[in-house]
Amino acid sequence: MLDKRKFYINGEWVDPIAPNDLEVINPATEQAIAVISMGAAADIDRAVVAAKNAFRTYSRTSLDERIALLEKLLAIYKRRYDEMARTITLELGAPITMSTEQQAHVGVGHLKGFIDALKRIKMREELPNGDIVLREPIGVCGLITPWNWPINQIALKAIPALATGSTCVLKPSEFTPLNALLYAEMVHEAGFPAGTFNLVNGDGPNVGAALSKHKDVDMMSFTGSTRAGTAVSKDAADTVKRVTLELGGKSPNIVFEDADLEERVTGSVLECFNNSGQSCDAPTRLLVQRSVYEQAVEIAKRVGEEARVGNPEEAGEHIGPLVSDIQYGRVQALIEAGVAEGAELIVGGPGKPEGFETGYYVKPTIFAGVNNQMRIAREEVFGPVLVIIPFDAEEDAIEIANDTNYGLAAYIQSGDLDRAERVAGRLRAGMVHINGAPHRYGSPFGGYKQSGIGREGGIFGLEDFLEVKTVHRPRAD
Ligand code: NAD
Repeated sequence: MLDKRKFYINGEWVDPIAPNDLEVINPATEQAIAVISMGAAADIDRAVVAAKNAFRTYSRTSLDERIALLEKLLAIYKRRYDEMARTITLELGAPITMSTEQQAHVGVGHLKGFIDALKRIKMREELPNGDIVLREPIGVCGLITPWNWPINQIALKAIPALATGSTCVLKPSEFTPLNALLYAEMVHEAGFPAGTFNLVNGDGPNVGAALSKHKDVDMMSFTGSTRAGTAVSKDAADTVKRVTLELGGKSPNIVFEDADLEERVTGSVLECFNNSGQSCDAPTRLLVQRSVYEQAVEIAKRVGEEARVGNPEEAGEHIGPLVSDIQYGRVQALIEAGVAEGAELIVGGPGKPEGFETGYYVKPTIFAGVNNQMRIAREEVFGPVLVIIPFDAEEDAIEIANDTNYGLAAYIQSGDLDRAERVAGRLRAGMVHINGAPHRYGSPFGGYKQSGIGREGGIFGLEDFLEVKTVHRPRAD
């Protein structure tokens, strides 16, 4: 079993102030693979002191110096790429092909996206009225990340903090701490000055809350559930920090009758099941125009029945387990709620798939005949569970799509691109995908309504970590 009990503070690997072990579980085997330490408020204090001291000098480094550090980090990340993919497979259960092609890849993509944005952002601007606007690093940033796309969220927070001249304290998810510890090793090797990047492991209510409340933390960047995001906002309020939030979603996927049904319904089901359905922007509500409803249900049923679960350590396109027994219980409860509410179960259902009694595996599941008021249409399931809802006209689709507390992503499938863009303009969501177009590095990622505040990635992601200063100069006239 790996011993990963140290934290990374002020450029060194240090013991926690008080020992408090937690085992990291492999979700495919239910066996412990490593032991980490759960920190306390005193560990956060120590890390914040280091970050505050480092900010004094690091905030005054030049853009070129920081770009050089990020380029070193990129080279190191590429060298240790397979190690990152394997780590995510072991602690999250993402199948190795998916970990290699998607989970680990975001670490490269976001770094390149931010280096490119850093070269384009204007840190000094002259306004037409003669005043000057300066963009300056915000200070000490507290970063709290979830387990579902672990290195994605770390990259989307730690890189812009370091790129803009801020310093940071990261508290990764206690379910997937190993990829974060590996990232800290890479940051260390790249030569970022001591105290610019610090990592403390621990849970949300103790360690996460200590960071949100800390008087010397200037900003909190949080990704996770809406419940925890609300707690972070409240904890940060007394010290008036900037808070950015990337939260949950229940993203609608509108299939119009003029879509390429075979291709787009197939792609939609697979995208919903990707990462075992544990993606905040997954297209989980399939809204289908009634004239093609029966056909779409048939295609979805076939694709769902063909989907296979499998061992994450084997290469292939199969679906891995969920991350934890807690997550397994939540998903089972919602599948059972769907059955109890009278939705038509066309694929999967409660319980474990045959032959997968060990590990947190669930059956890929599809419900048809769902109405938008059912729990499975309103609550984020965070498992491979798709609901299909019929609609009549374009206006009905827009109405149902927007009838949710969330507003992260939305998806449109249509052969008429003018219609797709018109509908995109009416959806209350931060990102709209037309006919399977993917999210691209450098574009802003984030949501409307209870899906969050702020945008991550590219120039928008850098701006969230910058203060704006106006310098009023005397004018010649
Ligand atoms: P979670 O909210 O339970 O945990 C996320 C992180 O917050 C963890 O590090 C946890 O320790 C910490 N935390 C928990 N309670 C806290 C508190 N009171 N104060 C401070 N920190 C606290 O969520 P999870 O189960 O790890 O992740 C799944 C959720 O994340 C889903 O709802 C998903 O939609 C969301 N998510 C959103 C995005 C996005 O970009 N919008 C991306 C990925 C995941």
